[in-house]
Amino acid sequence: MTDEAQKGELIYKGIPVSAGICQGKAFVLHKAQTHVPHYDVAEVDLPHQLQRFQQALVLTRQQIQEVQHKVSKALNAHEASIFDAHLLVLDDPTLIDSVNELIHAKKINVEAAFNEFVQKYTATLSAIDDAYLRERVADMRDVTSRIMNNLLGNLQHQALQELREPCIIIADDLSPSEVAVMDRKVVLGFGTDAGSKTSHMAIMARSLQTPAVVGLKDASLKVKSGAHVLLDGYNGSIVVNPTDQTLFQYGQLVRRQASIEEKLRAIQSLAAITLDGLKITLSANIGQTGDIQAVQEFGGEGVGLFRTEYLFLNRDTLPSEDEQCEAYRKVAAALKPAPVIIRTLDLGGDKFLPHLQIPVEMNPFLGWRAIRFCLEERAVFRAQLRAILRASAEGNVKIMYPMVSNHNELDQANALVELYKNELRAEKIAFDENLEIGVMIEIPSAAVSADMLAKRVKFFSLGTNDLIQYALAVDRLNERIAHLYEPTHPAVLRLIKWTTEAADRHGLWCGVCGEMAGDPYMTPLLLGLGARELSMAPPLLPRVKFLIRRLKMDDALELAKFALNCESGREILERSQALARRTAPSLFENQP
Ligand code: PEP
Ligand code: MG
Repeated sequence: MTDEAQKGELIYKGIPVSAGICQGKAFVLHKAQTHVPHYDVAEVDLPHQLQRFQQALVLTRQQIQEVQHKVSKALNAHEASIFDAHLLVLDDPTLIDSVNELIHAKKINVEAAFNEFVQKYTATLSAIDDAYLRERVADMRDVTSRIMNNLLGNLQHQALQELREPCIIIADDLSPSEVAVMDRKVVLGFGTDAGSKTSHMAIMARSLQTPAVVGLKDASLKVKSGAHVLLDGYNGSIVVNPTDQTLFQYGQLVRRQASIEEKLRAIQSLAAITLDGLKITLSANIGQTGDIQAVQEFGGEGVGLFRTEYLFLNRDTLPSEDEQCEAYRKVAAALKPAPVIIRTLDLGGDKFLPHLQIPVEMNPFLGWRAIRFCLEERAVFRAQLRAILRASAEGNVKIMYPMVSNHNELDQANALVELYKNELRAEKIAFDENLEIGVMIEIPSAAVSADMLAKRVKFFSLGTNDLIQYALAVDRLNERIAHLYEPTHPAVLRLIKWTTEAADRHGLWCGVCGEMAGDPYMTPLLLGLGARELSMAPPLLPRVKFLIRRLKMDDALELAKFALNCESGREILERSQALARRTAPSLFENQP
């Protein structure tokens, strides 16, 4: 019997990030677990275990070299040389040979073999009374714990891929690439200790319509695999061993939801027009060609944000120009004449590619990412821009650059697009000569200098996820400071207004593609502030449309006016929620 079974019902509170209710057996994953898994491995699979060990060693080497590089810059070469000893441990042939022998002799997994070797080796060295050897043991412990973490991280990825039984994942954290490998039929929902509403794993959960709760603090240490769990993605909780009364209450909530969804289906093919006749464009955020069906099913009027980095995840090599072109072309052809806005590669932050060897940085969200990376890694950018240009011959394709912080970056990127257009002309390859280029406004400097950017592009799309994190200096992934991540902060609203006004002055349209766009509580405020296109995960489209079709623009404008003169983000939020609730009460019956 598990601890939970003995204790009865237990509730863990977190942050709701993807709506829906599910229940089933918990499958608990924890990267930082001290427990080292031990299992038998079939003879044919033994080489794979050694391969995993070699991969972990390569990754560990990279990590140590990066730390060494940073230390040598921040301190001096002498301090950095300490890490030479760590690198020597990795080169020690005894290490690889011994682990390999143990794997084969005992036919066990690499973590178990490695653990056995480390325990024996450090015990032997520790027993000798020698200062030098004691230091060697300390080095050894440091390096081996890094290797073990890399092996266990890898293991989590593999475990997710190999799940066969329906379950609810409870983990300390999940990366976007881990969510990407999950099988939707098997993973009913997931809850994580870490995370926030705008982390990319939460964004993916919404697209996949998988109920999810994040910020559960230490739930992954307390819940046991196999426990019966109910996950509430509306209110943000997981209930372990729910009582009959709890199950009854949740049954009612599910029934209410079904009746709301029936109303939403009825407006699926209608336009998003306010009561006073203002047409708003509702577009979809997608990450792969497989999302086309959801865009059509939920009534998206095209794609407002194609996050192309998902095409680059979970593979060992970069997708070629042809491969990318095929993916972009497929989306453009399926949705034409509706626009498809393809965002150029936005790597970095919480989206990494191990094979690109982006250095581990102290502040990855402020680092070498997105357009900064693309402008330096010309071959990567060239392949992508040429692929997008070629796909533009098949439909209504537009290019959008992420993370632009000044107009020089725009000039450089635009010049490259012209260069590649010339290449294609010379090669007699078709593309859309009138293809439009836009820019994401997601860095405060871009919002403040929006008039300078406006001269160089045809549209703006506000990336509020990053705009909020940079304006307020609140890491969008850090659950400890999630309460400070405030979309209705007066400073954020001013940046939005600044952007829409600059767009108006220059005759551009301005949309929103951050998570604020898919939150019906924020719809009146965003429209009042001047947004005319909202782009969101496809399943969120019907709710926002339902609200828009009941909204009076006068109310939205009055709310925006109030917000721009109010000093309290909380008050603005309350007013926005009150207007949204008044406008479409049935939409919020299950919302906190
Ligand atoms: C944003 O920052 O709001 C955005 C849409 O981009 P991403 O979430 O991919 O960083
Ligand atoms: Mg962003």
